[in-house]
Amino acid sequence: MNSQMEEAPVQESRLLSLIQAKSGPLTQELSLTEGNFGLGKVPTKAQPDFATKMVCGFCSTGCSLTVHMKEGRAVGLTPSSDYPVNLGMACPKGWEALRVLEAPDRASQPLLRRSKTSPLLPCDLDTAMTVMTSRFKAILQEHGDEAVAFLSTGQITSEEMAFLGALTKFGMGLVHGDGNTRQCMATSVAAYKQSFGFDAPPYTYADFELSDVLIFAGSNLAIAHPILWERVLRNPNSPRTIVIDPRKTETAMAATDHVALAPKSDLQLFYSIAQVLVRMGWIDREFIDNHTEGFDDFAAFLADYSPEQTAGFTGIKAETVIELAKTIHQGKRVSFWWTMGVNQGHEATRTAQAIINLALMTGNIGKPGTGANSITGQCNAMGSRLFSNTTNLLGGHDFLNPEHRAKVAAALGIEVERVKARNSLAYHEILDRIREGKIKGLWVIATNTAHSWIDQRALLETFSKLDFLVVQDMYHSTETARLADLVLPAAAWGEKEGTFINSERRIGLVKKVSLAPGQALSDFNLFKLVAEYWGCGHLFRAWKTPEAVFQILKETTRNLPCDITGIRDYQMLDLMNGIQWPYTQKDSQAGPPTIERRLFADRRFYHVDGRARILFEKPRRPGEVPDSEFPYWLLTGRGTAAQWHTQTRTGKSEVLNKLSPQSLYVEINPVNARELGIPPGARVRVLSRRGSVIARAQLSHAIAPGQIFLPMHYAETNRLTFSEFDPYSKQPSYKACAVRVEPLAAS
Ligand code: SF4
Repeated sequence: MNSQMEEAPVQESRLLSLIQAKSGPLTQELSLTEGNFGLGKVPTKAQPDFATKMVCGFCSTGCSLTVHMKEGRAVGLTPSSDYPVNLGMACPKGWEALRVLEAPDRASQPLLRRSKTSPLLPCDLDTAMTVMTSRFKAILQEHGDEAVAFLSTGQITSEEMAFLGALTKFGMGLVHGDGNTRQCMATSVAAYKQSFGFDAPPYTYADFELSDVLIFAGSNLAIAHPILWERVLRNPNSPRTIVIDPRKTETAMAATDHVALAPKSDLQLFYSIAQVLVRMGWIDREFIDNHTEGFDDFAAFLADYSPEQTAGFTGIKAETVIELAKTIHQGKRVSFWWTMGVNQGHEATRTAQAIINLALMTGNIGKPGTGANSITGQCNAMGSRLFSNTTNLLGGHDFLNPEHRAKVAAALGIEVERVKARNSLAYHEILDRIREGKIKGLWVIATNTAHSWIDQRALLETFSKLDFLVVQDMYHSTETARLADLVLPAAAWGEKEGTFINSERRIGLVKKVSLAPGQALSDFNLFKLVAEYWGCGHLFRAWKTPEAVFQILKETTRNLPCDITGIRDYQMLDLMNGIQWPYTQKDSQAGPPTIERRLFADRRFYHVDGRARILFEKPRRPGEVPDSEFPYWLLTGRGTAAQWHTQTRTGKSEVLNKLSPQSLYVEINPVNARELGIPPGARVRVLSRRGSVIARAQLSHAIAPGQIFLPMHYAETNRLTFSEFDPYSKQPSYKACAVRVEPLAAS
């Protein structure tokens, strides 16, 4: 792909001189001829117009977009019609992916706050790097190796995540770092690891079109993953589509069945479905006996969870539960899908495993149209699961396992002593340590913690305790960047290259079709620069380009379930329209990878004995429930398909802004609105024990009486949410807390 590119001399030469000043003359291997270490190469006006395919940088669906180049500029895009993920479709965010690069608040130069009371002012990269490394080193020297941490993202490439993780832990000697992926899919990771023996979503997207029964739990697929919902609509089997969700979401409205359970009663509901399956003998005994462990204990445990016993808690009649179980029993190919309604709960891991149990006990796994399938959120959340080097050692390994440490050190060509036998704290534990004054330096990369973290007031108090906060982002205007002592300007999707892994384990390419503004550098190059200024650049001499890093990462996966040693290079990924893991060297000898592959066709799971585990636990109540003072459940979730997370990007598009409300709104059931004297469109105050927000009332029967709904995309929403965490995944429980609603005077 680089053959059509030419160098961008000004920015490259600045980077060169910066690095030369720190590490002496560049060696031949460090030359920038391939354009990856420096600012790369961009098409010239003299070149013929062309189009190139790349994976979208918003969500985990991983659609391919064809970018059209004219006179050296990316002038437009269209969804790629021959890509097995999106088949010629894209959602509004994808269509606007290039537009958001042009925003006026792009970070184009470093910004430094010279004292806590000073404003952020421009500085050069040399100053930024010198200040950052000297401040962090001083903190480490005074307070030890746990005193500086990082918070990363699911939005940068796997190669960049790996670089950050290796630089911080093997080069800078840090211990703690986590990602915003903790907020979206840590539960699925924990559930799969415990149940299957490895974090392994088993499905392929073709399964949406092959099932005859699809059950969606806590997933508003039509809004959160619109192209995947399109795949469901293409299903030729007239499938039964069942949505389990307290709210009548857009997906529930389009489904054949909506099961409107009480908030946070999903674990009880899944156990009651399992109880009926067992009681009626609607289970796959051969599969259970030969491929699982723990079923008999589970069957005994279920005695307390008959549909009649759980109905009072779940709000779901026994007949409905029995009908659900019967539908699963009668389905020939039943698939179970879940997203954040399950993942973001106080007992999320056991809830995800209750879904996995249903698939296992009915033998709905490893076959077309089946599976216990977590759909993840961010474009590279799956890359983060394998390669961020945060809570997993690179490649899906374990920091506490000496063989794993030796293998990863050998793959990286570093001394094994650099790989510490210590696990990182999870996101909220890092914040706790900051609050306690034990972590004093923080590096935040491509995430907007000050908007997205649960219980915002506590978060802001926590950040105020930091001695030094570095934020690396493509915009200088995010809520988090505005709190920083130093802002590092980062290139965006479309301005760099690397790989993303989508929800069905497909590794796809992102490419550089545009130059980053001003002094902004790819995250890859910013990490490279930090390494040089820190004095550990020699460890990363082989990490010349993202593709060189991809070759190293391949090696870390060897002999694991995610083994990708059969993928030759980026060109192969490009030619094959992405490749799903695993694809081993042995596989490659048998021929090119097939387009769609699912796991467990051989019925062997990744525990040593090859059996899946059936795991369960007594349900418990959430830490906060409605009471007389705060009588409503607050539910949160995605608002529209045109909005992405904290709207740092989607909020920059005129088109997307027209497709979504521009200020906070709250869905209230008309019955409750009447009781409270709230007319449609009125301003209301929503209060929790942690704060209050003003929103416009949207009266809707989509929300049940006693519940209200706020979309997650507005900064105000997390003023209300309640800090509670699943004990296994440590994922925050965003989905339910107690609030009250008050009408405000008309305006
Ligand atoms: Fe991009 Fe996701 Fe939309 Fe596809 S569905 S175009 S990956 S945001």
